[in-house]
Amino acid sequence: VKMNGKNNFMVFNPSMNEIIQRKASLQQDLKQALKNKQLEIYYQPKFDLASNRYDGFEALVRWNHDERGFIPPLEFIRIAEESNLIIELGDWILEESCRFISNYNLSHQSSYSIAVNISTFQLLNDDFEEKVTNVLEETGLDPCLLELEITETMLMNSMSIAYEKLKFLREKNISIALDDFGTGYSSLTYLKSLPITTVKLDKSFIDDIATDKLSLKIVENVIQIAKNIGLKIVVEGVETIDQLEILKDLPCNKIQGYYFSKPVSKLNLTEVLSEYP
Ligand code: C2E
Ligand code: CA
Ligand code: CA
Ligand code: CA
Repeated sequence: VKMNGKNNFMVFNPSMNEIIQRKASLQQDLKQALKNKQLEIYYQPKFDLASNRYDGFEALVRWNHDERGFIPPLEFIRIAEESNLIIELGDWILEESCRFISNYNLSHQSSYSIAVNISTFQLLNDDFEEKVTNVLEETGLDPCLLELEITETMLMNSMSIAYEKLKFLREKNISIALDDFGTGYSSLTYLKSLPITTVKLDKSFIDDIATDKLSLKIVENVIQIAKNIGLKIVVEGVETIDQLEILKDLPCNKIQGYYFSKPVSKLNLTEVLSEYP
């Protein structure tokens, strides 16, 4: 809040200048945080309806800034994407989460899968496929336990490159999920034209299914289309038992959301898993 002299009132909105400064300073700090290992991965379980248990997790990056506190991932991911930092950050997230889940599976004799969010910049980077292959080798994670979550944002200009890259990764037995499905513009085209295995239905689709017939109809139809073309369906953002009961009757595969668990630190994972062993 700024006072502009005697009678002039406060400026509530951060000025353009402040926004630019916050960005620049966060970008500097993010570089340091990455170096000093101040970032952390949280894991959110995915509930598998067929087996009635958790069978994997989504890795979600967290940054608790020294002075500013929690910075939302969407904010610092975007900042990282505006510089080359997204590559370094993305590499770290991929390696850290693959290593963690591989070790966890070894020590618990389990076979949980791990889904890692991949920025379009990362995917389109020249040596992305090579990096993924290397991480799998180094961590010993079975490729069929790795799923890469991509979004259609910005893919449209590079469809043929993306296609080739995803095809290569599919041939290695890595799963590919189209994230935030339903929030973009030409989603149905992507379902058909990219070598994906899974769609993740966005939370905005799910919010009203228990209270609004039309919302439910839309979800039923989208799930049917995805199923008809042979894709697995993960439903995101499920928060209530009513939503869960409705979804159980639909042919979707996995449920993810606060109803089951928020994303948790690796230290709390075993506790979360004990509910649906
Ligand atoms: P996303 O990939 O769609 O991730 C799902 C987001 O929804 C996560 O927010 C998760 O905490 C939240 N969520 C899950 N279940 C529920 C629910 O039942 N209710 C509500 N209200 N929210 C739920 P988060 O962790 O804040 O991440 C936001 C976005 O930031 C992600 O959306 C993704 O686009 C990006 N992001 C997060 N981590 C990473 C990462 O490691 N790499 C990349 N490239 N992007 C990431
Ligand atoms: Ca995701
Ligand atoms: Ca999503
Ligand atoms: Ca999202």
